[in-house]
Amino acid sequence: MYTGESALEARGLGMRYRRGWALKDCSFRLPAGRICGLVGPNGAGKTTLLSIVAHVLEPTQGTLSVLGAAPGSVDSGRTSFLAQEKPLFRRFTVAETLRLGRELNPGWDQRAAEDIVRAGNVPFDAKIGTLSGGQRTRVALAVALGKRPDLLLLDEPMAGLDPVARQELVGALLAEAAERGTTVLMSTHVLAELENVCDYLVVLSDGGVRLAGDVDELLSVHTMVTGAKEGEGLPASLAHHPLVESRISGRQFTALIRPEGPVAGPGETDSPSLDEVLLAYLRSPDAPPLLTPTAQVRDQAYNARTVAA
Ligand code: ATP
Repeated sequence: MYTGESALEARGLGMRYRRGWALKDCSFRLPAGRICGLVGPNGAGKTTLLSIVAHVLEPTQGTLSVLGAAPGSVDSGRTSFLAQEKPLFRRFTVAETLRLGRELNPGWDQRAAEDIVRAGNVPFDAKIGTLSGGQRTRVALAVALGKRPDLLLLDEPMAGLDPVARQELVGALLAEAAERGTTVLMSTHVLAELENVCDYLVVLSDGGVRLAGDVDELLSVHTMVTGAKEGEGLPASLAHHPLVESRISGRQFTALIRPEGPVAGPGETDSPSLDEVLLAYLRSPDAPPLLTPTAQVRDQAYNARTVAA
């Protein structure tokens, strides 16, 4: 399945810093209009990937297409990047910050930006430097959304926000994406944010793509099996299914597998939750990576073994 427009297509993307490779041979596709969580341990390469997409960094290797063009040639109004450190001018007031946004961005939506600021009771005449961390985050999100981009890149956008603000801003983000078909790529360490917000997922670890695709599809191709262990390990009946992770606790085993055909007993099968799948991949660097068909770039789609759609 390779339908619809692509917001992003990365082919063999690599980024080498002086200390070594931060991204290695990353290939994946993000269809337009999806809200995609970018997940992975500290140092996995999430910020590096977002910075390449935002054209802040040039990749060392590979190619990337952003909204159908090379990152540098995309009209700057079509993408908006909110970096982790939320760069804003400390001496500007909130109103001046929004005015700057309006002057720099032809498609600026003043009302949308003001609504986000107002919902947090942030005074328009306050200087950015005097705001709390969470208030500054809110203003930075207001600027990012006020641009009305086609592709919104957010690096840990909700860090530092209280739970009520988090929920409200997630709501604003979802409404924006639903209303305008905006594609969102957001890095996060908060699993709950993924469950409630994202319908697409890219998991990086050690600079490589481990999982990518529709959340529903990623869940549906995995099965959790639990039961009594056989001898020292898993029942022989599981041997021909690709194994992501197995754990033994006392006489019990738990295994996350990608079943190829019916799973014969012994043991009980269950559908895993998103965090069970994520944690299993992050704990098991040797588990085979998985990209669902919509996440495969065309060359890959021809060559890779596709999983059941
Ligand atoms: P976190 O979850 O901690 O924010 P991350 O997944 O965003 O991490 P990156 O910031 O992309 O990870 O870093 C990936 C790797 O590249 C790390 O090993 C980091 O030390 C390294 N790195 C990042 N920026 C630079 C730089 N400017 N110079 C050298 N190495 C860098």
